[in-house]
Amino acid sequence: MALRMSTLFLRTLRDDPADAEVPSHKLLVRAGYVRRVAPGIYSWLPLGLEVLRNVEKVVREEMVGIGAQEVHFPALIPREVFEASGRWEAYGDGLFRLQDRKTNDYLLAPTHEELFTLLVKGELSSYKDYPLSLFQIQTKYRDEARPRAGILRGREFIMKDSYSFDLTDEGLAASYQAHRDAYERIFSRLGFDYRIVFAVSGAMGGSASEEFLAPTPSGEDTFVQCTNCDYAANTEAVVIASPPAQDPSAQPASVVLDTPDTPTIDTLVDRLNTLDVGREFGAADTLKNVVLRTRAPGEKAWSLLVVGVPGDREVDLKRLAGQLEPVEVEQAGPDDLAAVPALVKGYIGPQILGESSATKVRFLVDPLVVPGSAWVTGANEADKHAAFVVRGRDFEADGEIGAVEIRDGDRCSVCGARLEIARGIELGHVFQLGRKYAETFGLTALGPDGKPATVTMGSYGVGVTRAVAALAEQTLDDKGLSWPRIVAPADVHVVATGKDEAVFEASQALVSSLEEAGVRVLYDDRRGVSPGVKFKDSELIGVPTIVIVGRGLAGGTVEIKDRATDERREVPVASAAEELL
Ligand code: ATP
Ligand code: MG
Ligand code: MG
Ligand code: MG
Repeated sequence: MALRMSTLFLRTLRDDPADAEVPSHKLLVRAGYVRRVAPGIYSWLPLGLEVLRNVEKVVREEMVGIGAQEVHFPALIPREVFEASGRWEAYGDGLFRLQDRKTNDYLLAPTHEELFTLLVKGELSSYKDYPLSLFQIQTKYRDEARPRAGILRGREFIMKDSYSFDLTDEGLAASYQAHRDAYERIFSRLGFDYRIVFAVSGAMGGSASEEFLAPTPSGEDTFVQCTNCDYAANTEAVVIASPPAQDPSAQPASVVLDTPDTPTIDTLVDRLNTLDVGREFGAADTLKNVVLRTRAPGEKAWSLLVVGVPGDREVDLKRLAGQLEPVEVEQAGPDDLAAVPALVKGYIGPQILGESSATKVRFLVDPLVVPGSAWVTGANEADKHAAFVVRGRDFEADGEIGAVEIRDGDRCSVCGARLEIARGIELGHVFQLGRKYAETFGLTALGPDGKPATVTMGSYGVGVTRAVAALAEQTLDDKGLSWPRIVAPADVHVVATGKDEAVFEASQALVSSLEEAGVRVLYDDRRGVSPGVKFKDSELIGVPTIVIVGRGLAGGTVEIKDRATDERREVPVASAAEELL
């Protein structure tokens, strides 16, 4: 049934909402798609719900298309489940926590790795049951520090989350690839301009993590893209080819510093002073971005940790020394060392260091301990794993990894061309979790030999409500929203203008024949509303094709207008329906 504007639950607004920062937010409110209830919490009105469902439909089709099966989990989860994974603590203030009448603790789930792992554990036991992919389209809760931009960053939002379960690393790689391909189809079909960028991964050995970003100035993610090739990465994960040109005397060759044991402030100062950086370090010095390579004695494996502070804050040597407790390093083989990205800019917060107890640690301080230098460093997946163990897909919460300063002259590690910074909205995230959750919850499968093997998992998310706003953001213009047909609340917006009864009759006839042909119609059948108001509303609402039935009717024509290009043509009213199919 056509949506009729005379009865549709819709009030368009002339003025921007006071709290709106980004254009999509302003327009989704003005065009009557959503209404704000509280910061980051929104109601969806009929037009908004149409778009949301259209997005969901595409996402669901592509998930089903790769063999994922749909399930639905509660948002309300007992504390114990998140306690077991360490996320009751790790999530900090981001988690909505509450109690039932018996004062038992609950949370509103920000994501569902734990419950999926537990569900599969409860149902399956044999290797024959794998591989398996499950998904849901469900409401998530995150007490975001800065809910902004309307539904782009909500505190309640809808996510499609899926999880793959495999027995082998190759299986996980295949499941990951299937999801990645499905995401490409989803975002292409929805009409997005998007980039796939490397992201920081928390899993061990060959694991992968990539984000799908919609480039737009209002995006909150900063990423780096090559001006020549396809290379693109989140600033947390970017690999650059070589140090930017700086004062060469400030960059001596790397020096390996063996420390006898946990370094004290004195040993650290001593060691730093063996570096030929043209200055002497003292105990009160401050540093930016110190790189430490650590190696357990007798081991061939290397690893590398970055200690530093993002932006222009500095860390003083005393604090640094205090944090140089021996760190247990996830062992990576010599081959992994060769694969370590040459140089990665990054930051791992000091709070993560100092966890354990390897005996003797060897430190390599990169040349880049030069105070004031924003340039650094490198980390492979193993190091990041060591640092990020217990954390899930959302581990890269604010403040844990600092944004990296990319400088003029930074070059792409793939082709050597110049890198540039851009901003984008994170639409989706594909992530190899590995065996972390399966180990935590004891998810194993009995192999053909009767021995249990730990399952390896992937986790994959699409922000469904966010996609609506992000698509609005990418397609809107100065007149209003302008949807790609696949998500638009209707295919055609028929606008009947004037007072002439013949106009309404002709419009109704057109609407009926369009509907018979399966075209989704929004019909502006309001009486007593001026043509100017109706035109403005049609531009604001953003249905891709607008048909104006009015003045031309006397000459037997109607006007068909393309919302996005503003192209107009007069067609005979008799053939209008055909033209629109
Ligand atoms: P962000 O970096 O924007 O905070 P995230 O990395 O925390 O997102 P994930 O945990 O990877 O998000 O969740 C999967 C997807 O869910 C994201 O790619 C994004 O599209 C969506 N999403 C995450 N947080 C929100 C939110 N607060 N509001 C709407 N959508 C969100
Ligand atoms: Mg987040
Ligand atoms: Mg993110
Ligand atoms: Mg993410």
